[in-house]
Amino acid sequence: MKKILVTGGAGFLGSHLCERLLAEGNEVICLDNYFTGSKRNVLHLLNNPYFELLRHDVTEPVDIEVDEIYNLACPASPVHYQFDPIKTINTSVVGAVNMLELAQKVGAKILQASTSEVYGDPHVHPQPESYWGNVNPIGPRSCYDEGKRCAETLFFDYHRQNKVKIKVVRIFNTYGPRMLPDDGRVISNFIVQALQNNDITIYGNGLQTRSFCFCGDMIDALVKMMNTGDEITGPINIGNPTEFTIKQLAEIIIRLTDSKSKICYQPAVMDDPQQRQPVIQRAQEILHWQPFTALEDGLKKTIDYFDFLLSEK
Ligand code: NAD
Ligand code: UDP
Repeated sequence: MKKILVTGGAGFLGSHLCERLLAEGNEVICLDNYFTGSKRNVLHLLNNPYFELLRHDVTEPVDIEVDEIYNLACPASPVHYQFDPIKTINTSVVGAVNMLELAQKVGAKILQASTSEVYGDPHVHPQPESYWGNVNPIGPRSCYDEGKRCAETLFFDYHRQNKVKIKVVRIFNTYGPRMLPDDGRVISNFIVQALQNNDITIYGNGLQTRSFCFCGDMIDALVKMMNTGDEITGPINIGNPTEFTIKQLAEIIIRLTDSKSKICYQPAVMDDPQQRQPVIQRAQEILHWQPFTALEDGLKKTIDYFDFLLSEK
């Protein structure tokens, strides 16, 4: 039985990961400061004797004996990571140092949840891992983008200098049940608006693109990556390469929810990446992984979740 630390374990992706790791017979310690996560996400795991909750902030050092660390702690939606940008960059950078120090001390493997945001507003499309990106270092998204880029640097420096066993995955837009209804991300916003027959808010002209991965597919890839040999460090893109415009997404969600909502165009947000699509050849070759959930199938599950959540209020 492995002892596994999941930072950000009470968040959207973290809670699905904790669930999967427990189901596979591991002991799981879920560390979270509950900024965007909640105990509710892991309530169903609390009776499991191999599950432990730890209220802690990754910007403070931690000392626990573990075999593996998944470092997911960091707010992921623009609304939340821009709420306190100094805290966000500290979470990525100081959090990475603290978790890497722990990995080094106890000899654990450590996986970093990096992001497609390291490519910024990309000039290369679709994005392979070899692309260095086009990132504004001083804009409203920089606390997140540059924080994650610096965390990648720290991971590779701890690997080269101190021989820490690292895994870096670049996660592209992922969605599913347990996203927050007021999270601000496009899928949760559009579904909640559609279910309430409110206007669907498109920022800009809606022709910007994203490629959406269902959470179950993402968790498969994270676990596969952790289980690779020590020579595999990444970075590896993980995402669903099927690309949609934001306008197409709005139309699909209106149709699937049978909503009376109208699309309403609002000013574009600053530095919004205009296109995003992962090249996943590395993930296919190294992890033997590819996503199998089509957007409409994943959206239906997510709509059911929000429908239930809104009916509770
Ligand atoms: P989320 O906001 O639901 O989860 C983040 C979790 O980290 C929350 O539980 C939050 O409370 C916790 N956290 C934040 N700051 C912390 C701190 N200082 N100390 C301890 N815990 C802290 O977001 P998510 O979508 O589940 O994202 C998880 C990870 O995956 C993040 O690192 C994010 O950057 C990365 N990621 C996600 C996506 C996506 O589309 N979901 C895309 C790219 C990268
Ligand atoms: N977006 C939108 N309306 C919303 C929320 C987001 O048009 O209510 C757009 C946003 O401007 C971006 C895309 O949807 O172009 C994805 O936004 P999200 O915040 O989900 O993810 P990210 O920009 O981090 O990829």
